[in-house]
Amino acid sequence: MDQQGNDKREQNKPERQNPNWMPQGGFNFSRFTWLIVIFLLMLPFFNIFMAQQSTNVISYSQFKQLLRSGDVAKVEMERDLIEGTLKSQTNVSGSAIVQFVTYLPSTGDDELLPLIEEHNVTFITRSANQQGFWEIFANILPLLLFVWLGVMMWRSMRSRGQGMFSVGENKAKLYDKTKVKISFDDVAGLDSAKEEIKDIVDYLKSPEKYKKLGARPSRGILLVGPPGTGKTLIARAVAGEADVPFYSTSGSDFMEMFVGVGASRVRNMFNDAKKSAPSIIFIDELDSIGRHRGAGLGGGHDEREQTLNQLLSEMDGFEQNESTIVIAATNRPDILDPALRRPGRFDREITVNLPSLADREFILKLHASKKPMSESVDIGKIARGTPGFSGADLENLLNIAAQIAARRSKDSIEEQEIEDARDTVMMGLKRTGISLTDDEKKLIAYHEAGHTLVAHELPHSDPIHKVTIIPRGMAMGVTMQLPEEDRYVYRREQLEDRLSVLLGGRVAEDLVFQTRTTGAENDLDQASKLARKMITAWGMSEKLGHTHLQDEKGNIFLGEELSRGKQYSEETAREVDIEIKTLIDRSFERAIKLVKEKRKALDDLAQALIEREEINGQEVDDIIAAAATGA
Ligand code: ATP
Repeated sequence: MDQQGNDKREQNKPERQNPNWMPQGGFNFSRFTWLIVIFLLMLPFFNIFMAQQSTNVISYSQFKQLLRSGDVAKVEMERDLIEGTLKSQTNVSGSAIVQFVTYLPSTGDDELLPLIEEHNVTFITRSANQQGFWEIFANILPLLLFVWLGVMMWRSMRSRGQGMFSVGENKAKLYDKTKVKISFDDVAGLDSAKEEIKDIVDYLKSPEKYKKLGARPSRGILLVGPPGTGKTLIARAVAGEADVPFYSTSGSDFMEMFVGVGASRVRNMFNDAKKSAPSIIFIDELDSIGRHRGAGLGGGHDEREQTLNQLLSEMDGFEQNESTIVIAATNRPDILDPALRRPGRFDREITVNLPSLADREFILKLHASKKPMSESVDIGKIARGTPGFSGADLENLLNIAAQIAARRSKDSIEEQEIEDARDTVMMGLKRTGISLTDDEKKLIAYHEAGHTLVAHELPHSDPIHKVTIIPRGMAMGVTMQLPEEDRYVYRREQLEDRLSVLLGGRVAEDLVFQTRTTGAENDLDQASKLARKMITAWGMSEKLGHTHLQDEKGNIFLGEELSRGKQYSEETAREVDIEIKTLIDRSFERAIKLVKEKRKALDDLAQALIEREEINGQEVDDIIAAAATGA
């Protein structure tokens, strides 16, 4: 049995590609301006080309010939370059020329000056520096242009926060108060969290009241809870209610490959926030910079530790009259460095849990009010059918329902769309294009029928919501159960029933086909993990007693210790393995006994699945009831 609840539809919004290669933002040139720039850059090359085209280069010997024959009127010399003018148009190497250019041999020529004097030629020498204004301009123009282009690009990169010059800059996003105003009304439910955080708003609104009495409110608030439960939303609501600037950033924004960059970003962010105090800094995913120091891979004084140290010292450095509040969110408070939670830093911890049934209803109502919902939709029923959903999941559910309704060209979202959206979220998208053989279909149908029958018959098992043999997500078939109410504590009997339900698919394979299939992998994995927890973490083994034997392996990538090793002997480890096997075997035996007794119901359920591919909870009840009466 598989329950796929993760419809992680990627919202890949590709950034709009800039059609030109030219950088944008403060550096936006029209095509015409670029043509001029390119033309100016080409100018010197153009000059050289034109000069070579317009003057006739002759050999030195030809030049001397012309001198001797008295045809040369004027000679200008600059280093080895000789430019000459003839008295009249003369034929040299087949072309009639008046002006020419030639070069003095590198060995020099002692005969040249006497020859020039002898023939009364006007002789001018030019020093190399004696260039005209335009010549100088044409030579340095490209250099100037390159410098100017460089400066413009640098400014442009700075303004967009890119490039190597921006590595240490504050990356926190400043929300525009006038545009996005979120209040506590936008946060549905979560009353206790809202209540706890309200005095922060009061402090930000009128800090004098507190200062007068010498009261120091919490400067750091840690929001702790699973993903998508509305931690960011609460922080933004605080900023909206207090009407102060809100700097939002994520722990991972501080991480760069250069050491010291994170620390500099922290410093700059605090400087910016202090300048616009009263203000709020929000750091999401605090755990990515706030892990225990000196633990995990890399240990030592690495970039992350420098960033964390900077954060700690910035929080210490708040002056009495500064009213900047730091709110941080994390899903892993257990791995945070203890220094972060010292008084004066994040000394206030607010837990934001998964929403209760009532809160789910509030959240659904809030988001449903922004969408056209059909009158027939019962929000209370959706809330009851979505235990374990976070606020973000609920918003996503309604969004998927809206997409389905749009695809079906409806004007409003109806119950069916919400039902389909929930199946998509919980079981994964239907996979098309898979063609199963009749044999495979029969195997899968019996496998799911096994789960269904066991779940239906055991007293502590959750009711069946839907059974399908249409491949969804990674699973080839799914039996979906839905608890009737939110549960926070589980009894041993409930867990044992769950083990038997997980093994129900394998039981059916064994009984009907006398074989074992690969389709049970996920079930066996879940069952083994659950059994291990029951024995080692929850002390549910008679033999091993009420001890916690779980290995406390730290996650090295989260900066925990490499391994704290086993806390118990090899002998106990063997006992644990035996107890896990015994528990699983017992659950399997219970399931097989039950399925054997209700073999007709198993066959009927499998047959219904082969014919209809999907059956709901009510249909399951009917099929099993009919089998019992022999109908
Ligand atoms: P993460 O830990 O993954 O950063 P988070 O706890 O910060 O998640 P948010 O980003 O605040 O979660 O919530 C995501 C979205 O879920 C919100 O934008 C909002 O639409 C919806 N949401 C979550 N909780 C609530 C709530 N209590 N009321 C209304 N909407 C909610």
